Amino acid sequence: MLTPENRTEVLALLARVLEAGVDFKLGEEVFAGLRLRPEQLRDALVDDLPQQTLGAAAVVEEMVARLLPHAKNEAAPRFLGFGDTGANIAALAGGLMGLLTQQNMINQSFDSPAATFAEVSVLRWLRDLLGYRNPPLDQVNGVWQVGGIITAGGTGANAAAMLLAREHTAPDTMRTGVRDPEGHGLVVPAGIGHYSVKASAAWVGCGTHLIEVPTDHYRYNLPALRQALRHHRGRIMGVVAYAGDSRTHTVERLDAVADIARTEAPEAWLHADACWGLLCALTDRLRPKITGIAEYDSVTVDAHKVLDIPYAVAALLVRDPGVLRTITTHSDLIMREPFAFGQVTPFVGSRAWESLRVWGMMRAAGRSGLAALAESRLERTAAFTALVDAHARLLRLAEPDMTAVVFCYLPAGHDPTRPDVDRIGEINRRIHADLLAGGRWYLHQFALPDDTGVVARGAVLWPLRFIGGNARTTHQHLTELVDEVVRLGALHEHTTGLA
Ligand SMILES: *Cc1c(COP(=O)(O)O)cnc(C)c1O
Repeated sequence: MLTPENRTEVLALLARVLEAGVDFKLGEEVFAGLRLRPEQLRDALVDDLPQQTLGAAAVVEEMVARLLPHAKNEAAPRFLGFGDTGANIAALAGGLMGLLTQQNMINQSFDSPAATFAEVSVLRWLRDLLGYRNPPLDQVNGVWQVGGIITAGGTGANAAAMLLAREHTAPDTMRTGVRDPEGHGLVVPAGIGHYSVKASAAWVGCGTHLIEVPTDHYRYNLPALRQALRHHRGRIMGVVAYAGDSRTHTVERLDAVADIARTEAPEAWLHADACWGLLCALTDRLRPKITGIAEYDSVTVDAHKVLDIPYAVAALLVRDPGVLRTITTHSDLIMREPFAFGQVTPFVGSRAWESLRVWGMMRAAGRSGLAALAESRLERTAAFTALVDAHARLLRLAEPDMTAVVFCYLPAGHDPTRPDVDRIGEINRRIHADLLAGGRWYLHQFALPDDTGVVARGAVLWPLRFIGGNARTTHQHLTELVDEVVRLGALHEHTTGLA
């Protein structure tokens, strides 16, 4: 335990941790050690609790020698599979400070006297960026005038949104329990949703009564949306729109969806999942893409996808701050005070000061720094897009709204009038498997229905996905990546059967 007597020793040990952690992030490789299979790692790393005391210093060395070589480094320059690398300096500082200060965000007065108000600032900054109006500060007399909550990830924020949607369409369900699950229809775009939305509806007891609406170019087909809303009128809990779906990061036409929903299903809660779309709020160049977002009843944003913040911090923001009353819980034991976030943060009690990472990052960057972050990511994305477009063997599947580029390798002899979808999928799956097994590159891959018809409309494709979020990735890396994908593609053209 830390005491005044061992201060010097503890500082030295923590300095060792800092050095190892910083050098880990600065590593060149996504995987520094050999890539082992899960069973090999299981056998190497899962062991019994030691009988003897090892001591903190020995354990730190063990972390460095035993665990870090097998850990994935998202900050390595060839890691291009996710938006953020968690490398923002002020965010790292905030993370450490939050860890060292042991505040508990459940309560304000005796658990987080200052931290709560730093968190209020973060929520107000995020609201402001999105275009939600903030109540004047002198009218903020408790958590019901703040207009948002911090959650551990977008999943938690979406779950809170579904709780709000449920209380909005079936008031008092918090007390009575769900009375009419079939009446809690949830309108979502078919095939492009994030699993957390469906899971959230299930978690809040509404079942999974999804009303899946056909899409076009990874956005709602608007006539089909109108039709679905009419068809299910009176039995709709919410309408969900993605400001950046989790595959192609296409931004929905938020204003058009809101207009249709308000007309055809005025009872429905309108939720925008802007886990990725927060990026659009950072720069004037992208802001028009999220026009209308402030009309939505709630918005999820994921700081650890957009602001270069270490896992896991997200927020749910609500248009009308007062709606958080509908999901408030009281306890005689704790939290009987206006600024206790524990009252309005569902599913969690004690909560760490994770929002200090966001406070640090946003404050250090300022509006101009946030814009610069977004712009540099867009430039990197544009450079990669140009390389893909210039290559005859590569095909881009969607127009990048933000920083994701979704593309496929096409085998020689690919005939656009008679595409061999299975073979294209097989080759691209092998490219991805080789990239990951090599441990040098990291791209994401998933099944994606072709929603633009660029290969074959509706066919399930297995694209590779690049995200331009890594500040260490140079143009040289981008050209090397294209070369590597093409090299592997050519190799696998010969290992997969010809059509
Ligand atoms: C990532 C993501 C989520 C979930 O966020 P977590 O932070 O992983 O919990 C929800 N919705 C969308 C669209 C996402 O991309």
